[in-house]
Amino acid sequence: MAASNAIRGTRVGSSAVRWAESPSDRTETVARKTVDYWCANGHRSEQTFAADAEVPSIWDCPRCGLPAGLDADNPPPRPRIEPYKTHLAYVKERRTPEEAEAILAEALQRVRARRGE
Ligand SMILES: [Zn+2]
Repeated sequence: MAASNAIRGTRVGSSAVRWAESPSDRTETVARKTVDYWCANGHRSEQTFAADAEVPSIWDCPRCGLPAGLDADNPPPRPRIEPYKTHLAYVKERRTPEEAEAILAEALQRVRARRGE
């Protein structure tokens, strides 16, 4: 009883530890740096980059989606466009109702022609 417990514990425990503490894993770890970004809502978000990577000056705030910058006292301004628009709103922006009617009529014509009507 006690023997079988010991075997099971050793197997599971030791393999897990060896994996995490493997020296080869440690040597392959890339040097990293952590950078703080600040958005207009005062959210701080940490982003981690490779130490030799170029740090972007703007990063989208993961909490509210506003652009966040590196200067806590001077975050990037809120964008003036409203953040969310329905797909229909975009379509309406691109096409007038008349154009939509014309496109629809043309499509119907093509369908009818294919059917031999
Ligand atoms: Zn934010």
